Amino acid sequence: MPELPEVETVMRGLQPSMEGAVILRADVNRPDLRWPFPDRMAERLTGRRIVAMRRRSKYILADLDSGETLLVHLGMSGRMTVSGDPLGQFVHDHPALQKHDHVVFHMDNGAQVTFNDPRRFGAMDLLDTATAESHKLLSVLGPEPFGNGFNDSHLIAAFAGRRTPVKSALLDQGIIAGLGNIYVCEVLFRAGLSPRREAGRIAKNRVAALVPIIRQVLQEAIEAGGASLKDFRQANGELGYFQHTFDVYGREGAPCRRAGCEGEISRITQSGRSSFYCGKCQR
Ligand SMILES: [Zn+2]
Repeated sequence: MPELPEVETVMRGLQPSMEGAVILRADVNRPDLRWPFPDRMAERLTGRRIVAMRRRSKYILADLDSGETLLVHLGMSGRMTVSGDPLGQFVHDHPALQKHDHVVFHMDNGAQVTFNDPRRFGAMDLLDTATAESHKLLSVLGPEPFGNGFNDSHLIAAFAGRRTPVKSALLDQGIIAGLGNIYVCEVLFRAGLSPRREAGRIAKNRVAALVPIIRQVLQEAIEAGGASLKDFRQANGELGYFQHTFDVYGREGAPCRRAGCEGEISRITQSGRSSFYCGKCQR
């Protein structure tokens, strides 16, 4: 499932083909994904120029010159593929329509952007740009990890008195937007904190120390994603799912990578999700 770094990578990969370009035509091949598409979606997209693209949490937002913003969520399995030759950089011909190609954007620069989602947990919607932040999907989100609103005092206040495990607190999108299971496991390893620790009982200095660690873990993953963008033209034009090495995620039974630690990585289930951690150096 894509988390913030993967969504950021997809967004950056789409920008050269979509930002500043006009949507000549949008093919909407079914009435819904996770939710119904908005009324007349194809019509509202046709002829519109994309003036800016950005990311909020795990949502890609494309601001149109009509005053509406296209919101895209990749869900569990959504994929974006770019074909065509807008800037002389894509070697891929437009592919034949595949099963699960639900929405296709034909851009005026010759690019074709295809959204494919076999499991259909993804979503698209059209919001008023001016009030987008108050949309029900966005208004519940806490601060962006790289934004000014995410800092020591915010996290200390959010953790204060909370009886839930720190793992759950960091997955709470109202506390911090965009973190998912994989990167929370990695953050807690780097912080030396057990995922089982009660959030409200962690010393303030250790809570504060999570802020730069979260940014560092995400930044490294975004950089790995950026490196993958250089290769995607040689692959199949699909964006966003890059190879990344994790310290604990998916490494059950493997030796701990912390220098001097002789522990091994364990897996436990918390709120139905797997947590990977080293019981020896994460306390
Ligand atoms: Zn360890």
